[in-house]
Amino acid sequence: MEATPSQDDKFQAIYDAFAARLPARIKEIDALWARVAAEGDSESLQSLHLSLHSLAGSAGTFGRPELGKIAKALELPIEALLDGITLPRGALQPLAPLLDRLRQAASIPGRSASEQARSAPDGLQDIVKPSESRLLYLLEDDAQQAQLVAHHLERFGYCVRIFGDGPTFRTAVEKEAPAAAVLDIVLAEGKLAGTEAAAALKTAAAGQVPIVFLSARSDYEARVHAVRAGGAVYLTKPLDLIELITVLDKLIGSRHSHPYRVLLVDDSTQEAAYFSHALGLAGMETRIATDPASTLEYLAAFDPDLVLMDMYLSDCRGDELASVIRQMTQYASLPIVFLSAETELDRQLDAMQLAGDEFLTKPIRPAQLVKAVSTRIARQRELRAMMTQDSLTGLSNHRQLHQQLATELARAQRSDAALSFVMIDVDHFKAVNDSYGHVIGDSVLRSLARFLRQRLRQADVVGRYGGEEFAVVLTDTAAPSAARVIDKLREDFAAIKHAAPEGEFCVTFSAGIASVWPSAKPSDLMVAADNALYQAKRAGRNRVVVFSQ
Ligand code: GH3
Ligand code: MG
Ligand code: MG
Repeated sequence: MEATPSQDDKFQAIYDAFAARLPARIKEIDALWARVAAEGDSESLQSLHLSLHSLAGSAGTFGRPELGKIAKALELPIEALLDGITLPRGALQPLAPLLDRLRQAASIPGRSASEQARSAPDGLQDIVKPSESRLLYLLEDDAQQAQLVAHHLERFGYCVRIFGDGPTFRTAVEKEAPAAAVLDIVLAEGKLAGTEAAAALKTAAAGQVPIVFLSARSDYEARVHAVRAGGAVYLTKPLDLIELITVLDKLIGSRHSHPYRVLLVDDSTQEAAYFSHALGLAGMETRIATDPASTLEYLAAFDPDLVLMDMYLSDCRGDELASVIRQMTQYASLPIVFLSAETELDRQLDAMQLAGDEFLTKPIRPAQLVKAVSTRIARQRELRAMMTQDSLTGLSNHRQLHQQLATELARAQRSDAALSFVMIDVDHFKAVNDSYGHVIGDSVLRSLARFLRQRLRQADVVGRYGGEEFAVVLTDTAAPSAARVIDKLREDFAAIKHAAPEGEFCVTFSAGIASVWPSAKPSDLMVAADNALYQAKRAGRNRVVVFSQ
């Protein structure tokens, strides 16, 4: 992806701010140098070291790699002097030529933000923002099959465009890149026409559009061609629609719906702004705590997935602050990544022993930072998911659901807002298992889970209560509109055709709804909704009933 002009402008502004402050920083280094040379006091020496250290870390980031290198070359011998008890006279003398070179390097204009972006591998131009659209391209020459797939994907919230041949597909890709593409491999034009058409995606969207191949061919040649064409997933026909939807949700869904949140703790505002902007380009949400003392407030209010922390802060060290965070049980597993110009492995290891999970060394290229941060967050979210999600459907598990209902109910009661709790139970599910087997039964449950998650709002809680029972918390929703929403879902879900070797079949569900009242406890709502569900079953199933006393 090319950086757009506005991104460049924003970066350039941060670069300019760095350049504007640079003369003052050099002056400060000069003054400290003079004081150390004259008086040899260790406090000034420490300040001098810190100034050089922070310059060594940031200069490379802002298009001045040479300046960064010289600052580093100065920092190391000065650091060695810190260990001595008294500073020998003339100790700085041999380093004077380096100081001259530092001044000189600082007086030369640095690279512009866009030059830096072009020259650096892994620069900003390589940061990929996950697509926010749900536009899907489907290349499939069997019109009937295409219609069927599109029909189902649309029910799960995707917007599907069908193409019957390679050339029309290519033309469309050049006009507008989709969020993902599903391609058949064998087309009328040739036995590998699908993989050839995929090449258009590679050029048009710089290889950033996830590609799913879908083919009756399952031989080695087809699979190798698929990988070469950039295929992320290879599914074989006959198609399992739920598998396809699961794959697509994984490839494009989750990041877009819950952007990664990163808290930066850094007292150098320019650098923090720079890193924050880079993470933002990759679709992450960020906040900057420039004052270590405000970090705890940010943690509570922003609830980040990860903390990116500078090692040297104004009034404490990064590893100390990380320990403070770690000692609070609610943050015991929050990933903390240090970002510092510290290159000494021993120091890095010491810092991580105290707290911290990883050490990134400055200068770091934006795309590297994005990769390191997103890998950590992805892993962390996976771990969390294992504890809070139901393994068959990926929805909140029973325990998590209880917790979420309690939280949302308390919130609604506090602010006098509406809230509805819905219990959903699949009708005659035992008969599905008996007729088609448990494996097909499982895939029906998965499809209902996906369906609910896709069709409800992000703020709504969707969980698997157990077995073939699901529960939904609709926030800010009173009973009448909850009934309308759930009834529409009921109708649409009943129209979905599930595939089994014995033939297609449809499944319905019944639902009971209970809405908040001032003194209601979570268990009250559950009993009430269950009550309504029981009435729906008794009245003949495939319907929605609202609880009333
Ligand atoms: P009703 O309309 O009254 O709800 O009838 P039903 O058959 O859906 O209800 P019942 O409670 O009698 O049966 C539920 C069935 O769901 C029995 C159980 O084997 C099946 N079931 C529960 N959990 C799972 C699961 O994870 N996978 C599959 N395949 N079946 C499950
Ligand atoms: Mg049941
Ligand atoms: Mg049932």
